[in-house]
Amino acid sequence: MAAITLKNIVKKYGDGFAAVNDVSIDIADGEFVILVGPSGCGKSTLLRMIVGLEDITSGDMMIGDRKVNDLAPRDRNLAMVFQNYALYPHLSVYENIAFPLRLAGAPDQEVDEKVRNASKTLELDEHLERKPGNLSGGQRQRVAMGRAIVREADAFLFDEPLSNLDAKLRGQMRTEIARLQKRLGITTVYVTHDQTEAMTLGDRVAVLKRGYLQQLATPRELYENP
Ligand code: ADP
Ligand code: ADP
Repeated sequence: MAAITLKNIVKKYGDGFAAVNDVSIDIADGEFVILVGPSGCGKSTLLRMIVGLEDITSGDMMIGDRKVNDLAPRDRNLAMVFQNYALYPHLSVYENIAFPLRLAGAPDQEVDEKVRNASKTLELDEHLERKPGNLSGGQRQRVAMGRAIVREADAFLFDEPLSNLDAKLRGQMRTEIARLQKRLGITTVYVTHDQTEAMTLGDRVAVLKRGYLQQLATPRELYENP
């Protein structure tokens, strides 16, 4: 787990258009920050720069005490939780969670210990032999988070993870993500265009408008001073 510091971050695309303009945010260790704003305001670009999928044009980015401006995604130790969860349908829940450890060549005993700990935290221990196709959306999301936990990532990054779900499931998952994030205490950056998610999920909300950081406040502050 680690703090994430964005300092005067600018992203200009080829044509000189600044999709992100002088954005500075200090995200504390364990904090849950929402990036919100209308389509095109630069939130995906900002998230992609944090993960390392997009270069920064200027500014500085720190994860913990490491400057990561030029670091490849695999060296940043972050876990992006994708919209479709990117689970392997033919693998059990256990093997889906174990996957990054297997890839890294971890011994069976270590794999087993970490998978069992993560699945207990995520309340998946009774579902370890099941396949993702038979799970609920919420359970699938937890498997995806489990994979990130065993990798001991420094932070979770979500890009509109609930946007494909119906309203009822979205409400349930919202509650679930907030609860899990608090329990895990893992630094989290969560992109959404949904005001309800922005106002109910996070510790602080960063409102982006046309590439600028327009507001950075707690949901309560935003509610009282919109
Ligand atoms: P959001 O996620 O808030 O919808 P984006 O970060 O995707 O916004 O996009 C911010 C702005 O940058 C938009 O105006 C978009 O058209 C532009 N943009 C995004 N990706 C590229 C790209 N690869 N090349 C040029 N412009 C882009
Ligand atoms: P490898 O290159 O080790 O075979 P992958 O292609 O799965 O493994 O991932 C490459 C690197 O990208 C990994 O070492 C990991 O640090 C990072 N990575 C993998 N999955 C994610 C993810 N969901 N979010 C962020 N980083 C990831």
